[in-house]
Amino acid sequence: MRKLMTLLLSGLMLASCGKDAPRVDQRLVIVGFDGMDPVLAQQWMDVGSLPNFKKLAAMGDFRPLPTSNPPQSPVAWSDFATGTGPGEHGIYDFLRRDAETQMPAFSISEIVPPQDVLAIFGMELPLDSGEIINRRLGTPFWSAIEDQGGYSTVLRVPVTFPPDPIHRMMAGMGVPDLLGTQGTYTIYSTRPVNSSDAASSRNMRMRPNREGHIETVLEGPAHPLKPDAPALNASLVLDPAGEKVRVQLGDTDVELAEGEWSDWITVDFSFFGPASVSGTVRAYLLSTYPRVQLYVSPIQINPRDPVVPLSSPPDYASEVVDRHGLYHTIGMPEETWSLNEGHITDHAWLEMERTILQERENMFYDALDEQDSNVVVGVFVQTDRVAHMFYRGIDPEHPLYSETSEEARGAIAWIYREADRILGETMKRMGPDDRLIVLSDHGFAPFRRAVNINRWLTEQGLLVLQSGKKESSVGFSAVDWSQTRAYALGLNSIFINRAGREAKGIVSDQEAEQIKQQIIAELPKLHDSPTGLQVVRQVFDGAELYPGNANGDAPDLVVGYEPGFRASWQTTLGGTPLSMIDDNAKKWSGDHCITPEAVPGVLFTSFQPENPLDSLQAIAHYAREYWAGAQ
Ligand SMILES: [Zn+2]
Repeated sequence: MRKLMTLLLSGLMLASCGKDAPRVDQRLVIVGFDGMDPVLAQQWMDVGSLPNFKKLAAMGDFRPLPTSNPPQSPVAWSDFATGTGPGEHGIYDFLRRDAETQMPAFSISEIVPPQDVLAIFGMELPLDSGEIINRRLGTPFWSAIEDQGGYSTVLRVPVTFPPDPIHRMMAGMGVPDLLGTQGTYTIYSTRPVNSSDAASSRNMRMRPNREGHIETVLEGPAHPLKPDAPALNASLVLDPAGEKVRVQLGDTDVELAEGEWSDWITVDFSFFGPASVSGTVRAYLLSTYPRVQLYVSPIQINPRDPVVPLSSPPDYASEVVDRHGLYHTIGMPEETWSLNEGHITDHAWLEMERTILQERENMFYDALDEQDSNVVVGVFVQTDRVAHMFYRGIDPEHPLYSETSEEARGAIAWIYREADRILGETMKRMGPDDRLIVLSDHGFAPFRRAVNINRWLTEQGLLVLQSGKKESSVGFSAVDWSQTRAYALGLNSIFINRAGREAKGIVSDQEAEQIKQQIIAELPKLHDSPTGLQVVRQVFDGAELYPGNANGDAPDLVVGYEPGFRASWQTTLGGTPLSMIDDNAKKWSGDHCITPEAVPGVLFTSFQPENPLDSLQAIAHYAREYWAGAQ
């Protein structure tokens, strides 16, 4: 958290390109609908719900598009951007293991604080600029096109933070919140609130006086200059207002009814004289007095005054505010954890999703209307997020199916119709010489049962807990590294505890090979006891999948689950619960981090490609060739 704040003082800014682009009449427009599934798309095209997709398929082509291995968005969109595989672009999973600590770390972007600081008057002033790093390596096709004199517009594609210095870019997945996390929300309540240990929530207990008056704070980022000082905060005051609740936060004074979202609230966290850090939040009143409960969204980096660059050129982020008002800036804007933990309702979450969709549409249509780029790429992740959270509504075998509301059952069909509407708006904005590609990075499958891979490794004798410990919480807290030979973290990754590579490594290269073969042979034999179903279809050898091992982060093994199964949340963060496989009783009920052949994405084109576009990587090559051919 402090890293982000120290960095802001270093004044890191991207140079604006400042090129005035000419009008372009022969564009390649690429629209991504993250997670759009070919089976669901076909089904809803067949019944007439997706007329624009049907029209596009009839104009050109529609087919399933093979996904990346593993089929995770940051991996797949990096394949798409660079035309290479993970062994070259270096993104293998949402999470990587830091070899030095053997702890999970975010794979996508990294904030390196200034190395030199001047300690003075109890403060630390940065002397160099620090850095934000996009961990994806290689050259994305939009940059290659610009290098040859073209113009690119790229909006909210995953793994684009910090933004590439191109004609127009809005950074996507990778942008943190103001705390430096991937989205930490806060619940204010007069009673204790339960959260699981994987949740990214903060629970604040409130104590009203006899009139119901409450004074509390919204905790912000760490103090950028004083490492030992408490976090910056802003005052938050609540009072009864008839049936409503009056909320005073920052300079905003608003009355909210139960079940109502506020507009954006700007909160400036002061830290030194007039200096402050600006964030934005939305509040949602969960319940009114006497048991008042308020939800405050993750604190977004304020796009009007961003502490780190969100766009290229840097002013573009605030120009969007001037045209359309404030918007979500965090890379993964949907607050999936608040719904997964039951902290907000399906209805409240879907209302938030409508807001995000509108923001994304405003940005995308404006960019199309500018008509100033050879290639225009926009990714809408809403199709993915709704499918994750509402698959329980279309999967009769999901543990929550029977208690899913009418609105929740219709949610995925709704977001596909929205995608169809966006496609229609996009086609209206295209000229006769433009070409259109619509794709998704992967499809979808049910997520009914959660697999604790570290428990399985324990039973194989490959992961050993400290003596007397029967389980381990996240972060490998009770793991005995001196006897552990393999460990799992992330959504599909297994690592061998190799001597000389991992800080606490004990396994020789020769033994590592034997352990890999053991896991490849044995894990597909795991069957789920209540149903007898096979859990894992195939375990892939990382050395074969990822020649090059860019970033040195390649996992030794990649687990290809059968549909219905996925790594448990505890597994992703390095936990070892007692059980092997649990019911997934959470609302996050659909997933795609399984064997890639089971979850292809979609590809629609407005034309018949000269060579088959049979992979995400092929689209990057096509974009470069198309641009070269159009010159
Ligand atoms: Zn997803």
